Amino acid sequence: MAAAVPGLSLRGTLVRSAGDKPALELSDHKQVSLEGDEPTVGVLNDKRLWGTDFEVVGHFNSPGHFEVDPIHTRAMFVHKDGKRLTISYWCEVCYIRTYTPGTCVCCQKYTDLDLKDADER
Ligand SMILES: [Zn+2]
Repeated sequence: MAAAVPGLSLRGTLVRSAGDKPALELSDHKQVSLEGDEPTVGVLNDKRLWGTDFEVVGHFNSPGHFEVDPIHTRAMFVHKDGKRLTISYWCEVCYIRTYTPGTCVCCQKYTDLDLKDADER
């Protein structure tokens, strides 16, 4: 299917649409609604990321509707201070990293948002 086609990158501000759904506001103030798998939508619904300079990779389902690539492809980034940051979540108690917000599988603590430089490995 479309899996072999490299994703399109879209960058703007992560906002809420009129229907309280995740959306990206582009530089021309046009809003594109964002869709994706459950963990992806979990990240898009994370209040801590609203208003950030946000990048998604995926494809348009229809004009104005953008489908973000599955969570395991790492298709979401935050841009800050000229850096491209990956989004993950961290439990500092158990040292467990996850890719969508929620409670730690181990201690049930609400995980911290952890932005890391995408170029640093
Ligand atoms: Zn934990």
